[in-house]
Formats: sequence, C-alpha cells, structure tokens
Amino acid sequence: MLNVMLGGTFDPVHNGHLRMAVELHERLDGARLRLMPCHRPPHRDQPGADGVTRLGMLREAVADEPGLIVDPRELEQDRVSYTGETLQQLRSELGTETPLAMVVGTDAFNAFDQWQGWMQLPELAHIIVVNRPGFPLALPEPVATMLEKRRATDASELQYSANGLVLVMELPLLEIAATDVRSRAAAGRSIRYLVPDAVWRIVRDQGLYRPGTG
Ligand code: ATP
Repeated sequence: MLNVMLGGTFDPVHNGHLRMAVELHERLDGARLRLMPCHRPPHRDQPGADGVTRLGMLREAVADEPGLIVDPRELEQDRVSYTGETLQQLRSELGTETPLAMVVGTDAFNAFDQWQGWMQLPELAHIIVVNRPGFPLALPEPVATMLEKRRATDASELQYSANGLVLVMELPLLEIAATDVRSRAAAGRSIRYLVPDAVWRIVRDQGLYRPGTG
C-alpha cells in the first residue's frame, strides 16, 4: 500500500488540509495519508498553538477517518527535522519495496531547489505536487529538469515502484489557509466551518490565537 506523507505546521489543521488528504486517499487507491505536524521553535511575534495542542487538534480532526493517520514523529523531536531524515526513517520502517510519497504544494515545489538535499529526496520517495490555488507551477531550471526526467503520467504508477516519480495533480481544493483562520480567531471572529467542529471547540474553549495567549 502507498504511504503518503503530508507535512505541515497544522496551526491549526483546517478543512483545506483535510479535504486534500481525503482526495489523495481516494485518488491513490486507498493510500495511507500520514499527516505529520512539524516541530516549530517557540516564536514570540505570533500567537500560535504549541506542539501538544496542534497534535491534539489534528488527532480530533481525523478521529473518524481511518484513511488519515497522524504521525507525531517530527513533533516528538526537540528540533526541526529535515524532510530527508524523516523520509529515511519511514523508508527503513517500511522496507525498500513499499511505495512511499511526499506531498508538496505548487508553492513549495516552485522553490524545491532550496530544500536541504532536494535532489536525493526522489531516491527515498515519490513526490506528489498538488496545485495550490494562486500558485501556478513556475519551476526553476533544475527542478523543471527533475520533473521532466521523473514525471508520472498517471496516479496508478505510484503503486508500482517504491520511489522516484514526480506526479503533478490537479485537485479540487478549498481556499483556506491557517494564517487566515488564526487572524479570524485573533479578531474574535468565528472560524466555524473552516475547521472541523472538534477543532473549532478547542480553539474557542482554550482561547487559542487570541493576542496575549500564544
Ligand atoms: P499557514 O497559513 O500557517 O502557512 P497553511 O494553511 O499553509 O498554513 P500548513 O500547515 O503550512 O498550512 O500546510 C501543510 C500542507 O498543506 C502544505 O503542503 C500546504 O501546501 C498544504 N495546504 C495548506 N492549505 C491548503 C489548502 N487549503 N488546500 C490544499 N493544501 C493546503
């Protein structure tokens, strides 16, 4: 079975993330979607939720959805993880034959050559590039070359090899961003229906993202 890593800050997880994960689960033949919140150093400027709270919200959000699982490994480390290290770990757990993929939005893929060890990442996993509204593909030359060399033409190809392909997918996505969710909460406005009800309740009950409660 294909394992797909979907990393992010998830501060908080919102319906844009969750719909994308469900779409991928269905289009990739029941792939296991691992939502992986990253470790983030404490930051003073912006009120954000701490790791334990981000993880708690994520767990509540996917509780009834067996195709989506929460993978806390990066959060549990006391430092920022590099994607290559995480994929390496997953690869050693899954073995060399199991298909593994990572998801990046077009915004991230447009700057993929800035990522630590980016050229080696396809040696560990397939890469799934999803269109993020407002970010058309605009690839620097070396990334365009990688795509040309490794492009998959159909999602089913990802099931038949362990790693090495790049699949560009157009998904119907929701235009929701966590930044916007946080600023609504900070302004005392409702975030209901942008996030699952369980997350809405946690944000409300704990007063998350309100100025002075970071
Ligand atoms: P922020 O606004 O704080 O930057 P974000 O909403 O972009 O947060 P992240 O947690 O950084 O969310 O994103 C995790 C992953 O989900 C990234 O790959 C990002 O491109 C993707 N993503 C975020 N929002 C959406 C959305 N509405 N639809 C599809 N993918 C999304």
